[in-house]
Amino acid sequence: TQQITLAQRPAGIPDDSTWSLETVELPELGDGQFLVEVDHISLDPAMRGWLNDVRSYVPPVQIGEVMRAGATGTVVESRHPDFAVGDHVTGTFGVTEYAVSDGAGVAHINLDLAPAPTWLGALGMPGLTAYFGLMDVGKLQDGDTVVISAAAGAVGSVAGQIAKARGCRVIGIAGGPEKTDWLRQIGFDEAIDYKNENVLKRLREAAPKGIDVYFDNVGGEILDAALANLRRGARIVICGAISQYNEETLPPGPSRYMSLLVFRATMQGFLVFDFLDRYPEGLEAIGEMIRNGRLIARETVASGGVPAFGDTLLKLFRGENTGKLVLKVR
Ligand code: NDP
Repeated sequence: TQQITLAQRPAGIPDDSTWSLETVELPELGDGQFLVEVDHISLDPAMRGWLNDVRSYVPPVQIGEVMRAGATGTVVESRHPDFAVGDHVTGTFGVTEYAVSDGAGVAHINLDLAPAPTWLGALGMPGLTAYFGLMDVGKLQDGDTVVISAAAGAVGSVAGQIAKARGCRVIGIAGGPEKTDWLRQIGFDEAIDYKNENVLKRLREAAPKGIDVYFDNVGGEILDAALANLRRGARIVICGAISQYNEETLPPGPSRYMSLLVFRATMQGFLVFDFLDRYPEGLEAIGEMIRNGRLIARETVASGGVPAFGDTLLKLFRGENTGKLVLKVR
């Protein structure tokens, strides 16, 4: 089976020297194990952080280790009571064509509800991130004015549609006219193209009374622009900061943080894993929205299989995905 392992820790943007493509023999299955034939691999901005040898919420991927990744696949051999041959599953199988699992962290998926890539996107970790980030951390209220950055991505596009379904006014920020057009099509009230427009000025126009919830996926200047436009009692949800992930030096801090004082606002970070025991609730809510047509789940499916992993990951940092980015393995 072909796998991608970490060859060397990158400084800045990962490149070919970061990865090693290896072909290994599959081990014999032990009792309580099963073999998964992987069909789609999830590409996540967080992967960049897992390459750094620093203390974080998970240990870094070690040199020589198979690159950590969420994936979907089919059970093709089993010595596990809960997983039968032919079952469709999702789990952290890694960047590999086949994975041996003991079932830890593996869930069954229903391909009648949605195809496999959606189980890595709206019905997977990104969708749950949007749901809990907005509802719990953002304490979303009906009628709130909500701003979302990286709005056309996996997390952002779901977050925006959840807020819309709750009767909020939703403003998305994304790169390029194609993305902003798509955001308006899926119901965002306003979409700001940060690559071609002045975000600070456009936010003032789009949210004249100020922002109640800012769901931040990017950090940097866009976070500062949102801080400059708050409403009293605003909640700033720190979901991610993709504009910083490849930086080699620490960027300047948010220069407008005193807005938190002026507007009695809060800024809170979170990890989707904090809500593990409530995933069924989140999946139920998102599944219901998909079933009744209130949520459009979109994915960008890249080809090339396991060997294309390194190049595909960079698409996230170049904004070449709309919706969830996945790599098709077979
Ligand atoms: P996306 O599908 O949103 O893909 C990343 C997007 O980020 C790109 O499409 C691009 O869109 C945008 N982007 C890239 N570089 C920049 C930049 N320099 N400035 C502004 N935008 C940029 O990824 P995900 O939905 O998977 O993740 C979104 C965020 O959520 C990330 O920050 C991620 O780390 C975080 N996250 C956090 C979790 C948690 O538990 N806290 C869990 C999962 C994700 P564009 O074309 O618009 O620039």
